[in-house]
Amino acid sequence: MSKCVIIGGGPAGMNAALYLKRAGIEAIIIEKDMLGGEMLKTNKIENYLGFSEITGGDLALRMSRQIKDLGVTIIKDKVLKVTFNDKFEVQMEKESINCDYVIVATGRTPRKLNLAGEDGLLNRGISYCAVCDGAFYRGLDVAIVGGGDSALTEALYLSDLCNKVYVFVRKDLRANEILQSRVKNKDNIVVMKNVQVTKLGYGEKLSNVILDNGDSIALSGLFVAIGGVPELNFLHDLDIDMKNGYIKTNDRMESSIKGLYAVGDVRYKNFYQIITAASDGAVAALSIKEDD
Ligand code: NDP
Repeated sequence: MSKCVIIGGGPAGMNAALYLKRAGIEAIIIEKDMLGGEMLKTNKIENYLGFSEITGGDLALRMSRQIKDLGVTIIKDKVLKVTFNDKFEVQMEKESINCDYVIVATGRTPRKLNLAGEDGLLNRGISYCAVCDGAFYRGLDVAIVGGGDSALTEALYLSDLCNKVYVFVRKDLRANEILQSRVKNKDNIVVMKNVQVTKLGYGEKLSNVILDNGDSIALSGLFVAIGGVPELNFLHDLDIDMKNGYIKTNDRMESSIKGLYAVGDVRYKNFYQIITAASDGAVAALSIKEDD
């Protein structure tokens, strides 16, 4: 039986596993954290067909149950390197696997503001996940940086917990209209456009931020939601065609390396949604089946 290693257990990786397993190809998911990926950071999903409203955690659980029930092998480990010599070799911290195909589904990691003090203030005022950390800021004043769907989804979530929620947008909002109108209807969300955070004020914890217009705003928490970047260092030994830091694929999800596929947020494409990530996974699996 052919063997495919799927690196990353978000919706793209899990759907690839589902389709591979049903096609009679051995599917092994390697995931360093929990199955679900970025979905786990989302409190409310309203655009995944079949569910009018579901939490990211619940959707992740349903998907992971489905693939576990099918018998997909799941390994909790971190991939360090992928090499190719007749077969692919996927080297992890604890073990190594040889396989016929690799699907890269590692998603993106949150982009940082790159301000002085940002790293040291993690969990002491700086966060990259409102659903994970919002409860620590109950009743306090917080802010979000970013103007995309993630930023406004997080602002709405935090507005039910916190006293006041600022949204600092460097130019204009790019989030969808539904989110924008919900934000407008919230009394305790203040959207500030054309502003950038230039400095973090802190002692033991974050105390305030300085904006590029000179304003100082007192805050207990700053949530950074300015998109993400794929982290693909483990592919450095392979000479893969990339675009803007993302893996270039054809419409079968295959990269410039035969047998190596990329799905979901690591792939260069126009739309980054849970449903499009899941679709990428299905396409990669069906393409592998076609070639096998
Ligand atoms: P996006 O890339 O869509 O938005 C990033 C935001 O951060 C933009 O407003 C951008 O500003 C801003 N930004 C980027 N860098 C900086 C910086 N250094 N300083 C200040 N601001 C900065 O990322 P998201 O995480 O919001 O979304 C990623 C993808 O996931 C999107 O395709 C989105 O549609 C999808 N998504 C969908 C959801 C849903 O359907 N419910 C929920 C969450 C995400 P600028 O516009 O000026 O570049």
